[in-house]
Amino acid sequence: MRAALSGRASGLGSPTEPAVRLIAVSKAQSAEAIREAFRAGQRAFGENYAQEGLAKIAALRDLQLLGIEWHFIGPLQSNKARLVAEQFSWVQTLDRASIVEKLARHVNPTNAPLNVCIQVNVSGESNKSGVAPQEVLPFAKSVTAFSNLKLRGLMTIIENVTNEAIQRAQFREMHQLFLTLNQAGYAIDTLSMGMSHDFPVAIEEGSTMIRVGRALFGERN
Ligand SMILES: *Cc1c(COP(=O)(O)O)cnc(C)c1O
Repeated sequence: MRAALSGRASGLGSPTEPAVRLIAVSKAQSAEAIREAFRAGQRAFGENYAQEGLAKIAALRDLQLLGIEWHFIGPLQSNKARLVAEQFSWVQTLDRASIVEKLARHVNPTNAPLNVCIQVNVSGESNKSGVAPQEVLPFAKSVTAFSNLKLRGLMTIIENVTNEAIQRAQFREMHQLFLTLNQAGYAIDTLSMGMSHDFPVAIEEGSTMIRVGRALFGERN
């Protein structure tokens, strides 16, 4: 019992359901590099650009039945929404009503619902995508109006700083938003935050899903 409790407290979770999932961010990596990571046991991959991601999904079609899982994690243009809704199983970057409607329209009704996360601009930087923290609740409500979208949680890219106190404050605000949504009755299970340079702090602050590229594959060319 003690062991189980301390395991939970340290974020280890149960063996079948790890507390923190790893998304291997494979932008700028070849299909072969993804295949190699898959062979080593990695299942979830994140792509930022629709065209590039769709080409790799096609090249790795044989891994679909073996459980490869594709996450769209980049800015989504509306003219790409149909293909992304058809080919990816997660879209982590919902940031406006029009893209929500377009994705919902194109999910194949015979497939499982599309897993989605709301992207939050927690740092408030003007050049960054995402809804403002105070918009998250009403936006979540609008997303759950579509039965073929499954709202899994929140995603963020915090400010790119090395100051750990700043990182921690932004991750903590995201965790608060996550709890607020849960308390409002949204059955969400995903808080997607933390990249190569800041994932240890993100995990300490409640991340359930880290998105790591360079620390796995090396620097991108
Ligand atoms: C590129 C990217 C990552 C991974 O960044 P690394 O620094 O390579 O770990 C994670 N999330 C998003 C949205 C990205 O665009």
